[in-house]
Amino acid sequence: MPATSRIRFVLVGTQHPGNIGAAARAMKTMGLARLVLVAPERPLDEDAYRRSAGAEDVLGDAPVVATLAEAVADCWLVLGCTARSRRVQLEELLPEVAGQRAVAKAVELGEVAFVFGRERTGLSNEELQLCHAAVHIPSDPEFSSLNLAAAVQVLAYEVRMAYLALAAEPAPPPAAGFGEEPASHAQLEGLFGQLGQTLDDIDFHKGRAPESAMRKLRRLFAKAELTEQEVRLLRGILSDAQRMARLAGQNGG
Ligand code: SAH
Repeated sequence: MPATSRIRFVLVGTQHPGNIGAAARAMKTMGLARLVLVAPERPLDEDAYRRSAGAEDVLGDAPVVATLAEAVADCWLVLGCTARSRRVQLEELLPEVAGQRAVAKAVELGEVAFVFGRERTGLSNEELQLCHAAVHIPSDPEFSSLNLAAAVQVLAYEVRMAYLALAAEPAPPPAAGFGEEPASHAQLEGLFGQLGQTLDDIDFHKGRAPESAMRKLRRLFAKAELTEQEVRLLRGILSDAQRMARLAGQNGG
């Protein structure tokens, strides 16, 4: 199976079914077949199938899930496509670089997701927080928002280009295999949940809003590309800190 079979395109809260059909077509032309729909506003209709123009299989196979977290739970790399640069402290990638990283991750046997937002409002900051990096097509800042399916086409094309470049290279030697799997998205979210709780338990914030520290910590850990083992180690340390905080609370209070 080609590495691109491990790359999925996730459409969040799409408002027009026709755009979903056009996105399926855009993907299929670039050899991509895995579409996931997160809580679309309306079910697939005739317009969606008409605009898929031969990519009905991609459309018909697309699972519908309730949340973005669910759609990317097993992913090693989650890339959020956004029409504007936000305050969210995420690394911002050019489409070409995003395509290359996605294919490299998929070759390592990791699941990869590109995430696209709603036509009107894009992705929420909370949804972008679930992404490891942001991807911005460097459009005219005065008119920066592409049609959803057009944005899907650009990213699908870049994935295709990265895949073709790799296929043209001689096969690399087999990986050394350290036996350490990268942590999944769900494992990282578990770590972030416990980290947030621990910071509360040890009274780290002292009245400051917790979100800013958590955003910076998420960015730090995204750079570290943690393995499953490292997540287990960190969670063990946090559990001990939480236990000590409980003890201190009992003794002091
Ligand atoms: N009005 C929305 C734009 C939504 S366009 C906003 O300002 O956020 C629908 C989706 O297409 C976006 O959520 C994004 O995933 C993708 N998209 C559109 N233009 C893009 C661009 N220039 N770069 C990256 N993704 C883009």
